[in-house]
Amino acid sequence: MTTLADPVPGGRPDDLKRVTALAAELAADGVHGIVLAYVDTAGIGRVKTVPTARLEAAVAWGVGMSPVFDTFLADDSIVSTDVLGSPDGDLRLYPDLDQLVSLAGQPGWAWAPVDRITQEGERHPGCTRTFLRRIVADAAERHGLAFKAAVEIEWAVGLGSAPGGEFVPAVSGPAYGAVRQVELSDYVADLLAAFAAQGVEVGQIHPEYAAGQFEVSVGALDPVAAADRSVLVRQTIRAVAQRHQLKVSFAPAFLAEGVGNGGHLHLSAWRDGVNLHSGGEGRYGMRAEAESFVAGVLAHLPALTAVTAPSPASYLRLKPSRWAGVFTAWGRETREAALRIVTGTTGRQDQDANMEIKPVDLAANPYLALGCVIAAGLDGMTASRPLPEEVTGDPARYGQEEAAARGVERLPASLQQAVREFRADGVLRAALGPVLADAVTAVRLGESAAVDGLDDAQVAAAYRWKY
Ligand code: GLU
Ligand code: MG
Repeated sequence: MTTLADPVPGGRPDDLKRVTALAAELAADGVHGIVLAYVDTAGIGRVKTVPTARLEAAVAWGVGMSPVFDTFLADDSIVSTDVLGSPDGDLRLYPDLDQLVSLAGQPGWAWAPVDRITQEGERHPGCTRTFLRRIVADAAERHGLAFKAAVEIEWAVGLGSAPGGEFVPAVSGPAYGAVRQVELSDYVADLLAAFAAQGVEVGQIHPEYAAGQFEVSVGALDPVAAADRSVLVRQTIRAVAQRHQLKVSFAPAFLAEGVGNGGHLHLSAWRDGVNLHSGGEGRYGMRAEAESFVAGVLAHLPALTAVTAPSPASYLRLKPSRWAGVFTAWGRETREAALRIVTGTTGRQDQDANMEIKPVDLAANPYLALGCVIAAGLDGMTASRPLPEEVTGDPARYGQEEAAARGVERLPASLQQAVREFRADGVLRAALGPVLADAVTAVRLGESAAVDGLDDAQVAAAYRWKY
């Protein structure tokens, strides 16, 4: 379980007790520097690094970084809100020692996610990791709930030697194909070794549908740790690829046409050690609270899209009949509904049952995405929101009337439309607080303006190597 305690100037007492020995151990293992990682509002991974000898100081006093990154866009231009985006001010980055790992794909480096606090030691309202920690802590205190989460990672593997910003698939074999598995045998084996060395529990890894595409799924953790892990997994995939002269894209649409990269979220709610998605009287074993939780997520999906699909490129991926889940519908193991109920196999259901949220990609800041999805689910649970009828098959086949009768709606087809839904959603805005909610709006509108006049191929190219 991730520590839910905020960093404090002078350092968290538990961290101070162990950091000297930890830094000595890292240095003895040949670790020269620590990557301090976070994800900005636009979904871009940003870092500072410190030499290993400075880890102790970083744990006690943090490392400085401007808050301006909260309103950075993917192309590094800057928008602003009434409180963010100014060149003034500084924040302190505090590494979470529980999540610190030596990077097997980057010898000489270790990695840790950070929380950001003000120089006065206050929570920074724009810190997305702090936001998720607060959502998880509140759910535990006010509702007695815990969560397990995992982020599926899809990525496209291209040749490092490809000209300019082009994507040239590094494999030619078919989807899920044995040929493709052999073509990248050494790369994937090195990747598995790196994950194992870093303590990342891999469920499975396979060649996916699109050209050059692969997918890895990892074990479920508490939401903060799951978000951290999704960042670490991508850092590892990228680093190992580089050592094989390969280049990877996590962009929602690495090409303008065809199936894109998803970042499906898996989430389950637990009370007193019991999985609420299993062993109940509701549909597919869901307990009443789990049904309402799923109903809450379903109801907020159009607005959630602004958080889970935050890039103009996200809307090249979010098309019907591409397994991205673009309709407000749920179903058991239904891959075209936005919400897929996963029961797990007989004998594992009490552990494995969960919901999968499909209209999520890897441009999404995972802390924002998980925090907002949990807030939406809790809204449904506290209102005992009823879960509508399930849908089977592809909702794209419904005519207008049938879709309306079933309450099946197409999710936003553009970032502007998603922002309109988000702005009208008081529950999500309240959960985020005004500073983060305004940052999300400003950054999404900024991204949207940045691609004004570009065609689909240009949009895909603009975001291909950013995430
Ligand atoms: N690549 C698909 C997406 O964009 C998902 C494929 C799958 O079901 O794993 O979400
Ligand atoms: Mg997949």
